[in-house]
Order: sequence, then C-alpha cells, then structure tokens
Amino acid sequence: MSTDPLILSDRPADRVARIVLNRPAKRNAQNTRLLLALDEAFREAARDDTVSVIVLAAAGPDFSAGHDLAESEQEAVLATRPSRVWSAGTGGAAERIMAYEREVYLGLSEQWRNLPKPTIAAVQGRCIAGGLMLAWPCDLIVASDDAVFVDNTVGMGIPGCEYFVHPFEVGVRKAKEMLFTGDPISADDALRLGMVNRLVPAARLESEVVALAARIATRPLLALRLAKQAVNAAADAAGRSSVLETAFGLHQLAHSHNLAVHGQVIDPAGVDARVRRP
Ligand code: ZN
Repeated sequence: MSTDPLILSDRPADRVARIVLNRPAKRNAQNTRLLLALDEAFREAARDDTVSVIVLAAAGPDFSAGHDLAESEQEAVLATRPSRVWSAGTGGAAERIMAYEREVYLGLSEQWRNLPKPTIAAVQGRCIAGGLMLAWPCDLIVASDDAVFVDNTVGMGIPGCEYFVHPFEVGVRKAKEMLFTGDPISADDALRLGMVNRLVPAARLESEVVALAARIATRPLLALRLAKQAVNAAADAAGRSSVLETAFGLHQLAHSHNLAVHGQVIDPAGVDARVRRP
C-alpha cells in the first residue's frame, strides 16, 4: 500500500484495487510527489496477482485541477526516484524541462496506459489538462454527470498537455475546438464523443464504478490483459504513438519559446482563474 497520504489505496471488492488521489484541498493538483506515489500504487496493484482490475478515483469535488504550477520541488523530488533514467536533472533549461516532462508527465501516463490489467477512472467535477493525463490513460472512464474536461494550455502558450491523445479521444475536429477555445467538454458531450463509457449521478459514481470493476474482475485475467493489448495495438497502428512523440516535440518547442520570451515555461497571461480555482 502507498505510504504517501497524497495517495490512498484500498480493496473495495474482490480482485479490485482502488487508488485515490487525496489532495482535495488543492483539487488534486498534481505535484511530483503525488505523481510518483500514484505510480508506485499503480505498479503495486499491477504486480499483485490477487488484483484483476484497478480503479483510479479522486477525493473531493474535482478529479484533478492539473499540474501544480506552484510547485518548486520538481527536481528535488524526482531525484529521490531510484529508477530515474534521464540524467540527474543537471542539463540546461530546455533539456531539463524535456527530461522531467518525458519521465514524469508523458512517461508515467504512457506507462499507466500500458499496465497489463484493466483500469477504470472515476471522474467527477473538473478534469483539467494534467487531469486528462490521469483519466485518458485508463481503459474505461465512468464520469459523474457534473464532470467537465478541459485543456486550457493553449492560453498558456502551450499546444496541449504532454500526453497528447486528444484527436483519438474526441476526434480531430473537436480536439481542435477544445484546444483553440479552452472551453470545457461537458459530461454529455464526452459521452456522445465516446470519450467516456458511462455517465452516472455524482452520488452513485463510487458504487457504479466498483460494481463495474467487480464484474470485470470475475473474468479471466489473461484474456483481459490480451484484449487490452489488442485494442491498444489498434490505436497505435492508427498512429497514436507517433502523434504522442510529434506533439511532445512541439510542446517542448513552446516551453523553450515561453522561457525565452516570458522567462518561464508558460505564458503567465493564460493561467485561467476560472478553471484553476484554489
Ligand atoms: Zn510541459
């Protein structure tokens, strides 16, 4: 079990592990500590043979407000990760940003997407930018009918969050609209677009997700693993992996540009108080 209070773990049903983002006072904004603890919890559930399905949920009214833009300890926290592979964070500015984001943002999201067990995200309230990077890697998404999905990064001078699968999640045209405008995608629209599997009233989100997970968990684990791998292969054959890499390079160009022009990796004018409420 995770020992970091930012992440809680329990077993709400037979063969079901549930991992809960537990930073509700910050709307589950993701700092490095939270993301590394989340990764540890995912890995633990993945290697536990008594677990067939992993649920990712969040405490409080919002799933996640995204990356914690106020964090100042990224490198110090990442330095504690024994499996760190991309330098020690001592490169120049552009390299340091790229290395951190490849390992912690893109790297972890992609690793969770490829976990060899079914995963289900339970999303309520706001799921903003980095929040998408937790929900989208999951195999299924069940949302409460008050959920909204937002990528507001263009306003901050960034062409989308680091896990760039928007066209695969909502379609090409809607992906452009969500990025160009920064407007939320409602739960109803998310269902219609196939971005979420089911909508439920907020009060029933937890029970419905656990029931769905428990039902899937009765089925043969190897077949579940292989079915997941086959569907993931279809998305990758459709270009998902190369889009991720292309978009990540463009994303890093934008960070370098912002650093040169604004002295920081994002355009501060675009930090939107409406969606980043404290
Ligand atoms: Zn970034």
